[in-house]
Amino acid sequence: RAKDMGRDTFCYYEAEMDEEVQARAELVTDLRKAIDKGELFVHYQPQFCLENDKVSGMEGLMRWRKQDGTVIPPYKFIPEMERSGLIVAAGEWILRECCCQMMRWMEDGWDGVPVSVNVSMHQIFAGDFPETVSQILEETGLPAGMLKLELTESVIMVDVQEAIAIFSQLKQIGVELAIDDFGTGYSSLSYMQQLDVDVLKIDQSFIKHVTERRGDAVIAETIITLAHNFGMKVIAEGVETADHVNILKTLGCDQVQGYYYSKPLEADELIAFVRARADA
Ligand code: C2E
Ligand code: MG
Ligand code: MG
Ligand code: MG
Repeated sequence: RAKDMGRDTFCYYEAEMDEEVQARAELVTDLRKAIDKGELFVHYQPQFCLENDKVSGMEGLMRWRKQDGTVIPPYKFIPEMERSGLIVAAGEWILRECCCQMMRWMEDGWDGVPVSVNVSMHQIFAGDFPETVSQILEETGLPAGMLKLELTESVIMVDVQEAIAIFSQLKQIGVELAIDDFGTGYSSLSYMQQLDVDVLKIDQSFIKHVTERRGDAVIAETIITLAHNFGMKVIAEGVETADHVNILKTLGCDQVQGYYYSKPLEADELIAFVRARADA
């Protein structure tokens, strides 16, 4: 009996695996179509300078609107894009879209702010990433200084020497570089000084309880000091309350991004938001 049950359990497990494999294969097919059919779009989340309270930048975040109208958040499809390699095409798409959009706003009379785009490690190591970036800037006419690329510590650690080389090529183009989710990975300080990075983004997990957990406040403060000593700026992510803002001001943080100021917005909403604040 025990043996039978064991076999049943095994069969059940196997059937579940099959289902999962099939569901993932379908997702990849849908995602490939989504890219071709233009179902991907961008939400823009503004970033703010703590010193003067002005919009200082924005981050472009990928969204997928299915044909039935439902909007799918990144955590439900980016991992599959990463596994299947579709992230290279989708990443190039959002890079071009964000550059195009900022250029349109600037042509409409706004001075603009740097737009941040998340870059996956598959894109970075795809071989011709710096060329792709300069090509997109040339195509869209966006000045290089208006584009910021967000990379994670894990990207760097995949191949440190290669990362240093690619970062330096990107810096030569003139784009800004930010390290996303800083503090959650394994960056080594010796690499930090070799990588010509402009901005560290403090991960939102340290901000969430920063007012009540002494340790999180110490981490935030340490990242801010580290960044400033290396000549980098700091952006805190996941800023949700006035208390968060106050403590980050006290700690000397430069910029903030989070629901307290604004959730990620559609392009039209973003420019309306900026104009309403008379920042544009
Ligand atoms: P991320 O780059 O760290 O982006 C910040 C995430 O925090 C966004 O989630 C944003 O909506 C969310 N967020 C902003 N303010 C708050 C806040 O006050 N509280 C909380 N709890 N969350 C806040 P989103 O848009 O769901 O994106 C999740 C992640 O998906 C991103 O994290 C990034 O790693 C990835 N992602 C999004 N778009 C792209 C893309 O175009 N390419 C790549 N490679 N990854 C992307
Ligand atoms: Mg990011
Ligand atoms: Mg982040
Ligand atoms: Mg994140």
